[in-house]
Amino acid sequence: MPPRPPERTAAQYSPAATEAVRVTDPVEQLLEEMSEETQPKSLGFGSSMRGRVAVVTGGATGIGRAIALEFARHGASVAFNYFVYDGAEEVREEAEATAREIQHMEVRVHHAACDVRDAAEVNRFVRDVQEELGGIHILVNNAGIARDRALWRLTDEQWRTVLDTNLTGAFHMIRAVAPLFRRQSDGKIVNVSSVHGIRSEFGLANYSASKAGLLGLTRSAALELGPSNVNVNAVAPGYIRTTRLTSGVPAEILDTARERAVLGRLGDPQDVANVVLFLCSEYARHITGAVIPVDGGHLL
Ligand code: NDP
Repeated sequence: MPPRPPERTAAQYSPAATEAVRVTDPVEQLLEEMSEETQPKSLGFGSSMRGRVAVVTGGATGIGRAIALEFARHGASVAFNYFVYDGAEEVREEAEATAREIQHMEVRVHHAACDVRDAAEVNRFVRDVQEELGGIHILVNNAGIARDRALWRLTDEQWRTVLDTNLTGAFHMIRAVAPLFRRQSDGKIVNVSSVHGIRSEFGLANYSASKAGLLGLTRSAALELGPSNVNVNAVAPGYIRTTRLTSGVPAEILDTARERAVLGRLGDPQDVANVVLFLCSEYARHITGAVIPVDGGHLL
């Protein structure tokens, strides 16, 4: 069993962080705090996903959890997986809690431990989802990790485990669902990349390579599956306030990230979930091979 990865470091999100510039104007400060407290509204597509089955990798926590809940809110049955590193049982409890929330929305849910790095486990998981929920129509490759370090200090293990999880894991999932999607001439795939797949920063060689690779995989899959009426797109989130981000990153680095986004705030998991839901809806039926930044203008 591979060791549980350390909590994300500040460098994953902003290794090039500079001195934070504090908001001094009290009105601006207040507005900033208020904007942080506001929970973004989810999209009002009604029950447009009823009858669909959505698979979200790494769906127990953070962005994946928000995506899983958003599909459930719109009537889809939801399957998600998680990975128990080194016997960390709290992960299972988080997954149980997310599954209960989904059940409360009166849709069907399937969840299981499955390491996306392991092709055999992925194939088993995909087969079980089909048996349990009666099919698959949507796949969101969200599972991802980081091991940040200067390029010349990266170990083979740190390089491989990030590439294996973030990129090969997505490949395993796409390969497992592709025959079904082609057979039914119907399918939506969204890959959760990152702004760091488009523009890197110091210490992110493995993470950036994996997330940039995911964009190449997105375009190739879009090209090969498009003739079978399968849309394949990617989202590139900027700094999103997940528990692991806010608990692992010093406040001044989050301040810098806030300033860098021209909208002056960090994103919420719901911001990403809304775009993923849109990409998996019929409103986006003519979009494929695209990368949508969800970054508050971080890349500008
Ligand atoms: P989380 O750590 O909360 O989510 C990552 C999920 O991936 C976890 O549920 C984790 O499961 C799962 N996972 C990790 N390794 C594996 C594996 N081998 N097999 C199956 N599942 C696995 O972080 P976030 O929600 O912040 O991140 C979600 C995605 O968004 C990632 O791909 C990340 O790179 C990307 N992203 C996040 C940003 C942010 O600012 N938060 C910015 C840009 C991109 P478990 O906990 O059970 O191990």
